[in-house]
Amino acid sequence: GAVIGILGGGQLGRMLSVAAARLGFRCHIFEPGENPPAGHVADRVTQAAYDDADAIAAFAGSVDVVTYEFENIPTSALDALERHRPIRPGREALRISQDRLTEKTFLRDLGLQTAPFANVTDLVSLTMALDAIGAPAILKTRRFGYDGKGQSRLTGMQDAENALADMAGAPAILEGFVDFSHEVSVIAARGLTGEIACFDPGENVHREGILRTTTVPARLTSAQRTDAILLAATILNALDYIGVLGVELFVTPGGLIVNEIAPRVHNSGHWTQNGCTVDQFEQHIRAVAGWPLGGGQRHADVVMENLIGEDMNRVPDLARQPDTALHLYGKAEVKPGRKMGHANRIVRKG
Ligand code: ATP
Ligand code: MG
Ligand code: MG
Repeated sequence: GAVIGILGGGQLGRMLSVAAARLGFRCHIFEPGENPPAGHVADRVTQAAYDDADAIAAFAGSVDVVTYEFENIPTSALDALERHRPIRPGREALRISQDRLTEKTFLRDLGLQTAPFANVTDLVSLTMALDAIGAPAILKTRRFGYDGKGQSRLTGMQDAENALADMAGAPAILEGFVDFSHEVSVIAARGLTGEIACFDPGENVHREGILRTTTVPARLTSAQRTDAILLAATILNALDYIGVLGVELFVTPGGLIVNEIAPRVHNSGHWTQNGCTVDQFEQHIRAVAGWPLGGGQRHADVVMENLIGEDMNRVPDLARQPDTALHLYGKAEVKPGRKMGHANRIVRKG
């Protein structure tokens, strides 16, 4: 059978490995960190650094296709991998999504709405950006931010100096604060031959920058739902994309505003494991393996709740709920803010 190479051994790599195994594939994980969650379920793990050229070459040589669970893969490693095997989703999706400035420019050039944004390199450019965009605003690092890390909110010019100091010299962008009513996301997939399948948009609630719950169906009119799916398809086609993509959106009276995209399976798509015949993980494996895609139809209403840090204490109680499916990541150590698992509760109507 074919071997799928996955860069990254966290919970997303773990759930991709489970889905791949179900389809008869073997998985080989590349992960620098010790004791990766995906290591418990994958066939093989290479524990090495991304700048270890020999390890990268050996990994590539042992797999048929390379995919990934995170977007911040060093360019040098990608160059080396690509010499041996196809990388899916492709390099362009990574190049765009590794940098918020490149990403927002790409989205705007596609005709999609984003928050107003400007590049910030120093106090002068930050002052000019604040002047043009207005307060409140958010200063974000262009690269490597996740779970709201590397972000700083500004209520006015008086916050500029401190916010810039928080960036510690990292390249940043200033974004205007979007006055949204709620947040939704679309998880969409595109196959090797260009066919597209979208899951129903989910409604997302964040606390302290971290996703807490995703609820399907989201509160959207049918026009908004169609819009969300069409804009996801526009992004997939523009990138000649292969695999699953997450698109985070703000819902406003002026339409849907794209917050960010993630070129991978997405936390807000975990509900599909219990709400769809083919979930986002199987869908991604199908796409990167060149298989036909699942349809994406939803057969239940679902609330996905992330289990973060001490939320793990609720597992015994959640395990007693007959309509709740638990997905635990096997992480040895509980830490505040650490994603330990999630619970998918099926909501029955009437
Ligand atoms: P993720 O873990 O989703 O990758 P991230 O660190 O990349 O998170 P963002 O998604 O940019 O961060 O922001 C996290 C959350 O902060 C958003 O989901 C939203 O709730 C809020 N937020 C971000 N940007 C804006 C904005 N321009 N206006 C209003 N709220 C925002
Ligand atoms: Mg992000
Ligand atoms: Mg986000």
